[in-house]
Amino acid sequence: MRRPPRVPAPDLPARVTIYEVGPRDGLQNEATTVPTDVKAEFIARLVACGLAEVETTSFVRPERVPQLADAEALLARVDRAPGVRYPVLVPNARGLDRALAAGVTDIAVFASATETFARRNLNRGLDEQWAMFAPVVARAQAAGVRVRGYLSMCFGDPWETEVPITQVVEGGLRLLELGCDELAIGDTIGVGTAGHVTALLDALATRGVMAGQLAVHFHDTYGQALANTVAALRWGVTTVDASAGGLGGCPYADSATGNLATEDLVWLLDGLGVEAGVDLDALVATSVWMADRLGRPSPSRVVRALGGDPATHAGT
Ligand code: MG
Repeated sequence: MRRPPRVPAPDLPARVTIYEVGPRDGLQNEATTVPTDVKAEFIARLVACGLAEVETTSFVRPERVPQLADAEALLARVDRAPGVRYPVLVPNARGLDRALAAGVTDIAVFASATETFARRNLNRGLDEQWAMFAPVVARAQAAGVRVRGYLSMCFGDPWETEVPITQVVEGGLRLLELGCDELAIGDTIGVGTAGHVTALLDALATRGVMAGQLAVHFHDTYGQALANTVAALRWGVTTVDASAGGLGGCPYADSATGNLATEDLVWLLDGLGVEAGVDLDALVATSVWMADRLGRPSPSRVVRALGGDPATHAGT
């Protein structure tokens, strides 16, 4: 059986947007650096599968993330299809300069909900983080660029362990007050569970945040990503992040981060009767192709179940 039995569940959105993060969040966490032309083909294939938001690359300093050092060259190679968003991650004002020069129309900034991760990832405390992002978001919006605000470590932090929901809500509100069009709630270490998801979304709603402003970014590190996704869908969230083939979550690499695989998400949505507009067979073929380029099998359960032996796909 190559499709789940379709049994719609009550109280779910009719349609969901999948925000594909494989080319950026996925590849930046893979041990292998992929050539620019392979990345461009990967992105074109993802769009051909029906994905309408594909985070393409990052304008972080090349020495910090060598896997994405070719951001300008890649954007020059990507044929931007009408109706498709190709957001890029912008870490700071210099990154925004590079994004605007490249003709980017959608950016994402990456903030932390916790002081410790802000210091480790951005070398800034929380107050300094907001001070840095404020002019970036303002200038992007003045240029007509849509801005997504990621908030990371929303369900736990490796150094601070428990992250209070009130603290996460304050961080999310800061991003929206800066002018972000979308707030992406990130479970960066994958520790959250479904009740926690609902409690956080409820807490955001009491402060005036609406479902249409939210996206969820779950990691499958502890096997909770799909359960958490169902909780978010039931709550009314209609944008869900995922990484084709589970890129960035390779179980054989030290950099394993456990991104939810797009194929696993599409299988769930198909079974629930929630429309996502994605061709699952084409997506599996794309991830098998990329796994061959990376020299290791996809960690996605659905890719493994539908994709067959990766060795038989060599050269496809
Ligand atoms: Mg991720």
